[in-house]
Amino acid sequence: MEAVAAAVVVEAAAELSLIAYGDMVAGCRRCALAQTRTQVVFGSGSPDADLMFVGEAPGFHEDKQGVPFVGAAGQLLGKLLAGIGLTRDDVFVANVLKCRPPGNRDPLPDEIQACESHLFRQIELIQPRLVATLGNFATKLLSGKQAGITQVHGRPQQVVLGGNAVTLYPIFHPAAALYTPRMLQVLQEDFGRIPELLGRAVEPPPPPVPLHVPEPAVEQPVQLGLF
Ligand code: URA
Repeated sequence: MEAVAAAVVVEAAAELSLIAYGDMVAGCRRCALAQTRTQVVFGSGSPDADLMFVGEAPGFHEDKQGVPFVGAAGQLLGKLLAGIGLTRDDVFVANVLKCRPPGNRDPLPDEIQACESHLFRQIELIQPRLVATLGNFATKLLSGKQAGITQVHGRPQQVVLGGNAVTLYPIFHPAAALYTPRMLQVLQEDFGRIPELLGRAVEPPPPPVPLHVPEPAVEQPVQLGLF
Protein backbone atom coordinates (compact mmCIF):
# COMPACT_ATOMS: atom_id res chain seq x y z
CA MET A 1 0.00 0.00 0.00
CA GLU A 2 2.86 2.37 0.87
CA ALA A 3 4.44 1.78 -2.53
CA VAL A 4 1.13 2.67 -4.21
CA ALA A 5 0.86 5.90 -2.17
CA ALA A 6 4.47 6.80 -3.04
CA ALA A 7 3.76 6.21 -6.75
CA VAL A 8 0.71 8.52 -6.54
CA VAL A 9 2.85 11.26 -4.92
CA VAL A 10 5.54 10.88 -7.61
CA GLU A 11 2.88 11.10 -10.37
CA ALA A 12 1.31 14.21 -8.81
CA ALA A 13 4.75 15.85 -8.57
CA ALA A 14 5.49 15.02 -12.21
CA GLU A 15 2.13 16.52 -13.23
CA LEU A 16 2.86 19.71 -11.31
CA SER A 17 6.33 19.92 -12.84
CA LEU A 18 4.88 19.49 -16.33
CA ILE A 19 2.32 22.24 -15.69
CA ALA A 20 5.05 24.51 -14.27
CA TYR A 21 7.27 23.77 -17.27
CA GLY A 22 4.36 24.52 -19.62
CA ASP A 23 3.82 27.87 -17.88
CA MET A 24 7.47 28.70 -18.40
CA VAL A 25 7.48 27.69 -22.07
CA ALA A 26 4.39 29.87 -22.67
CA GLY A 27 6.71 32.90 -22.60
CA CYS A 28 9.48 31.36 -24.75
CA ARG A 29 11.25 33.78 -27.11
CA ARG A 30 14.12 31.56 -28.25
CA CYS A 31 13.37 31.96 -31.96
CA ALA A 32 11.65 34.30 -34.40
CA LEU A 33 8.41 32.27 -34.32
CA ALA A 34 7.62 34.07 -31.06
CA GLN A 35 6.89 37.18 -33.13
CA THR A 36 4.29 35.56 -35.40
CA ARG A 37 2.59 32.96 -33.16
CA THR A 38 -0.74 33.58 -31.40
CA GLN A 39 0.41 31.40 -28.52
CA VAL A 40 2.76 28.56 -27.61
CA VAL A 41 1.21 25.11 -28.17
CA PHE A 42 2.86 23.12 -25.40
CA GLY A 43 1.03 19.80 -25.68
CA SER A 44 -2.03 18.08 -24.27
CA GLY A 45 -3.14 14.85 -22.65
CA SER A 46 -2.16 12.73 -19.70
CA PRO A 47 1.00 13.92 -17.85
CA ASP A 48 1.87 10.33 -16.95
CA ALA A 49 0.99 8.71 -20.26
CA ASP A 50 2.76 5.52 -21.33
CA LEU A 51 2.30 6.58 -24.95
CA MET A 52 3.35 9.94 -26.35
CA PHE A 53 2.87 11.22 -29.91
CA VAL A 54 5.21 13.80 -31.40
CA GLY A 55 4.14 15.68 -34.53
CA GLU A 56 5.80 18.46 -36.48
CA ALA A 57 4.49 21.89 -35.54
CA PRO A 58 1.19 23.62 -34.76
CA GLY A 59 -0.90 24.70 -37.74
CA PHE A 60 -3.51 27.45 -38.06
CA HIS A 61 -6.13 25.91 -35.74
CA GLU A 62 -3.60 24.72 -33.17
CA ASP A 63 -2.08 28.21 -33.00
CA LYS A 64 -5.53 29.72 -32.40
CA GLN A 65 -6.69 27.14 -29.83
CA GLY A 66 -3.38 26.41 -28.09
CA VAL A 67 -3.89 22.65 -28.42
CA PRO A 68 -1.97 20.31 -30.78
CA PHE A 69 -3.71 18.30 -33.48
CA VAL A 70 -7.16 19.90 -33.43
CA GLY A 71 -7.46 20.37 -37.24
CA ALA A 72 -8.20 17.74 -39.89
CA ALA A 73 -5.04 15.70 -39.13
CA GLY A 74 -5.99 15.79 -35.46
CA GLN A 75 -9.48 14.45 -36.18
CA LEU A 76 -7.88 11.54 -38.02
CA LEU A 77 -5.44 10.99 -35.14
CA GLY A 78 -8.46 10.71 -32.82
CA LYS A 79 -10.09 8.13 -35.08
CA LEU A 80 -6.90 6.09 -35.35
CA LEU A 81 -6.61 6.12 -31.55
CA ALA A 82 -10.24 5.05 -31.20
CA GLY A 83 -9.44 2.14 -33.53
CA ILE A 84 -7.04 0.77 -30.91
CA GLY A 85 -9.29 1.54 -27.96
CA LEU A 86 -7.56 4.76 -26.80
CA THR A 87 -8.60 8.38 -26.46
CA ARG A 88 -6.61 11.63 -26.50
CA ASP A 89 -6.85 11.66 -22.68
CA ASP A 90 -4.93 8.35 -22.48
CA VAL A 91 -1.89 9.71 -24.32
CA PHE A 92 0.20 12.88 -24.46
CA VAL A 93 0.43 14.74 -27.77
CA ALA A 94 3.14 17.29 -28.53
CA ASN A 95 5.14 18.64 -31.46
CA VAL A 96 8.79 19.20 -32.35
CA LEU A 97 8.06 22.95 -32.61
CA LYS A 98 5.82 24.59 -30.03
CA CYS A 99 4.99 27.58 -32.25
CA ARG A 100 3.37 27.76 -35.67
CA PRO A 101 5.68 28.46 -38.61
CA PRO A 102 4.03 31.17 -40.77
CA GLY A 103 1.91 29.67 -43.54
CA ASN A 104 2.51 26.19 -42.06
CA ARG A 105 5.91 25.96 -43.77
CA ASP A 106 8.36 23.24 -42.71
CA PRO A 107 10.32 23.84 -39.50
CA LEU A 108 13.79 25.38 -40.09
CA PRO A 109 16.89 23.71 -38.62
CA ASP A 110 17.59 26.64 -36.27
CA GLU A 111 13.96 26.59 -35.02
CA ILE A 112 14.24 22.87 -34.26
CA GLN A 113 17.51 23.45 -32.47
CA ALA A 114 16.05 26.29 -30.40
CA CYS A 115 12.96 24.28 -29.45
CA GLU A 116 14.23 20.72 -29.02
CA SER A 117 15.11 20.97 -25.34
CA HIS A 118 11.41 21.71 -24.58
CA LEU A 119 10.48 18.37 -26.14
CA PHE A 120 13.29 16.50 -24.37
CA ARG A 121 12.21 18.00 -21.02
CA GLN A 122 8.58 16.97 -21.69
CA ILE A 123 9.73 13.40 -22.35
CA GLU A 124 11.84 13.48 -19.19
CA LEU A 125 8.85 14.59 -17.09
CA ILE A 126 6.21 12.34 -18.68
CA GLN A 127 8.47 9.27 -18.90
CA PRO A 128 6.48 7.49 -21.63
CA ARG A 129 7.43 3.92 -22.50
CA LEU A 130 6.50 4.37 -26.15
CA VAL A 131 7.04 7.50 -28.24
CA ALA A 132 5.31 7.45 -31.63
CA THR A 133 6.86 9.98 -33.99
CA LEU A 134 4.49 11.31 -36.66
CA GLY A 135 6.40 12.06 -39.85
CA ASN A 136 9.96 12.94 -40.78
CA PHE A 137 10.84 15.82 -38.48
CA ALA A 138 10.00 14.10 -35.20
CA THR A 139 11.46 10.79 -36.37
CA LYS A 140 14.80 12.28 -37.42
CA LEU A 141 15.10 14.40 -34.29
CA LEU A 142 14.29 11.67 -31.78
CA SER A 143 16.10 8.80 -33.53
CA GLY A 144 19.16 10.95 -34.17
CA LYS A 145 19.30 9.36 -37.64
CA GLN A 146 18.63 10.75 -41.09
CA ALA A 147 16.61 7.77 -42.39
CA GLY A 148 13.27 9.02 -43.78
CA ILE A 149 9.82 7.96 -42.57
CA THR A 150 9.10 5.87 -45.70
CA GLN A 151 12.05 3.65 -44.82
CA VAL A 152 11.52 3.34 -41.08
CA HIS A 153 7.75 3.59 -40.43
CA GLY A 154 6.25 0.71 -38.49
CA ARG A 155 9.63 -0.40 -37.14
CA PRO A 156 10.18 0.14 -33.41
CA GLN A 157 13.65 1.28 -32.28
CA GLN A 158 15.14 1.25 -28.80
CA VAL A 159 16.51 4.67 -27.78
CA VAL A 160 17.32 6.61 -24.63
CA LEU A 161 15.28 9.82 -24.28
CA GLY A 162 15.17 12.07 -21.24
CA GLY A 163 17.45 9.60 -19.45
CA ASN A 164 15.04 6.67 -19.92
CA ALA A 165 14.98 3.66 -22.21
CA VAL A 166 12.11 4.28 -24.60
CA THR A 167 10.68 2.49 -27.62
CA LEU A 168 10.54 4.91 -30.53
CA TYR A 169 7.88 4.06 -33.09
CA PRO A 170 7.95 6.02 -36.36
CA ILE A 171 4.59 6.41 -38.11
CA PHE A 172 3.50 8.46 -41.12
CA HIS A 173 2.01 11.85 -40.26
CA PRO A 174 -1.83 11.61 -40.32
CA ALA A 175 -1.91 14.60 -42.71
CA ALA A 176 -0.33 12.30 -45.33
CA ALA A 177 -3.39 10.03 -45.17
CA LEU A 178 -6.08 12.68 -45.42
CA TYR A 179 -6.49 12.37 -49.16
CA THR A 180 -4.68 9.08 -49.85
CA PRO A 181 -6.64 5.93 -48.94
CA ARG A 182 -3.57 3.70 -49.43
CA MET A 183 -1.66 5.75 -46.86
CA LEU A 184 -4.59 5.48 -44.48
CA GLN A 185 -4.34 1.71 -44.67
CA VAL A 186 -0.60 1.84 -43.85
CA LEU A 187 -1.31 4.16 -40.90
CA GLN A 188 -4.01 1.82 -39.59
CA GLU A 189 -1.65 -1.12 -39.85
CA ASP A 190 1.11 0.76 -38.01
CA PHE A 191 -1.36 1.93 -35.32
CA GLY A 192 -2.51 -1.68 -35.00
CA ARG A 193 0.86 -2.63 -33.49
CA ILE A 194 0.71 -0.01 -30.73
CA PRO A 195 -1.19 -2.16 -28.18
CA GLU A 196 1.40 -4.92 -28.59
CA LEU A 197 4.25 -2.41 -28.19
CA LEU A 198 2.63 -1.11 -25.02
CA GLY A 199 2.55 -4.67 -23.75
CA ARG A 200 -1.21 -4.76 -23.71
CA ALA A 201 -3.45 -7.52 -24.97
CA VAL A 202 -3.57 -7.30 -28.73
CA GLU A 203 -6.92 -5.89 -29.77
CA PRO A 204 -8.83 -6.95 -32.89
CA PRO A 205 -7.73 -5.08 -36.02
CA PRO A 206 -9.27 -1.60 -36.08
CA PRO A 207 -12.24 -1.06 -38.40
CA PRO A 208 -11.43 1.07 -41.44
CA VAL A 209 -11.72 4.81 -40.76
CA PRO A 210 -14.41 6.29 -43.01
CA LEU A 211 -12.87 8.86 -45.33
CA HIS A 212 -14.67 11.24 -47.64
CA VAL A 213 -13.48 9.70 -50.87
CA PRO A 214 -15.70 10.65 -53.80
CA GLU A 215 -17.99 7.78 -54.84
CA PRO A 216 -17.45 6.56 -58.44
CA ALA A 217 -20.30 7.68 -60.68
CA VAL A 218 -23.03 5.03 -60.72
CA GLU A 219 -23.89 3.89 -64.21
CA GLN A 220 -27.58 4.21 -65.01
CA PRO A 221 -29.09 0.79 -65.90
CA VAL A 222 -30.02 0.62 -69.54
CA GLN A 223 -33.80 0.48 -69.92
CA LEU A 224 -34.55 -2.48 -72.18
CA GLY A 225 -37.47 -2.12 -74.50
CA LEU A 226 -39.87 -5.07 -74.41
CA PHE A 227 -39.98 -5.39 -78.22
N1 URA B 1 0.33 18.83 -37.57
C1 URA B 1 1.26 18.67 -36.61
O1 URA B 1 2.32 18.13 -36.86
N2 URA B 1 0.98 19.11 -35.41
C2 URA B 1 -0.16 19.68 -35.08
O2 URA B 1 -0.33 20.03 -33.93
C3 URA B 1 -1.13 19.81 -36.10
C4 URA B 1 -0.87 19.38 -37.34
